[in-house]
Amino acid sequence: MYTSLNRVLKKADELNMAVGAFNTHSLEMLPAIISAAKEQGTPVIIQTSVGTANYVGHRNLVSVCESMSDQAGIDVVLHLDHAKEYQDIKEAIDAGYSSVMFDGSSLPLKENILKTQQIIEYAKKHDVSVEAELGIVGGTEDGVAASEAEVKYTDPEEAVTFVQKTGIDALAVAIGTNHGQYKSKTNINFERLKEIKEAVDLPLVIHGGTGVKDEDVRKVIDLGIRKFNVGTELLVTWTKKSKELFGHTSENASLRNNVVPCIEAVNEVVQGKIKLFKNLN
Ligand SMILES: [Zn+2]
Repeated sequence: MYTSLNRVLKKADELNMAVGAFNTHSLEMLPAIISAAKEQGTPVIIQTSVGTANYVGHRNLVSVCESMSDQAGIDVVLHLDHAKEYQDIKEAIDAGYSSVMFDGSSLPLKENILKTQQIIEYAKKHDVSVEAELGIVGGTEDGVAASEAEVKYTDPEEAVTFVQKTGIDALAVAIGTNHGQYKSKTNINFERLKEIKEAVDLPLVIHGGTGVKDEDVRKVIDLGIRKFNVGTELLVTWTKKSKELFGHTSENASLRNNVVPCIEAVNEVVQGKIKLFKNLN
């Protein structure tokens, strides 16, 4: 069913696994992600940036997630990724998004708390889950950018205050991952993740999941990561495939010929990620 982040993360916690949160950049990428989750038999989180939501249309995204979750018989969450403005979050909630992220990570702690509290108040009235971020994740992805000087690991003590004062549903942590990193893999600060996990009792979220080594996925899940964001790898897969296809498909052939193989390629990548996120023995 079409559901909230809260519900799927609670189930994931009971099973010591993570739920994949995959960024779609167009309406065409959506079926690839949901069909992969159906084949793997797991819940899935579809994420969009504010930019993608404006481009595709919030209501269109909600409708497709609702209908595909019914058809597939799996839990689907539609989540707004990295929103910094109250208005953008309100628009997504009003259109039917079931989850939002407020990213106040660049603000001083007190301001981040104040703004997150405002979001929580509106979201809870609509039964919508809220993810927030503490610390600063590095890199650039679809308009979200932090320079190397800005990168800051999440402080466990600040996390305790932040979680207590806001009542958020999930916390995005900065532990060494970077947005948009796909040509290399990152070194995760496991010790910091452990300290955060011991300090706060709520589902933790990893951003920049493309740059996480396969062998580290299990370790971070065992340390409390319940939502695993993957964006860049899907984007790169789609673009590489479509470059190849558009290069040789005749110009009057159905567009299907250029799109369906991209869907299949993304589906395969998503299934590979979900298999890791299940954290099987
Ligand atoms: Zn992110």
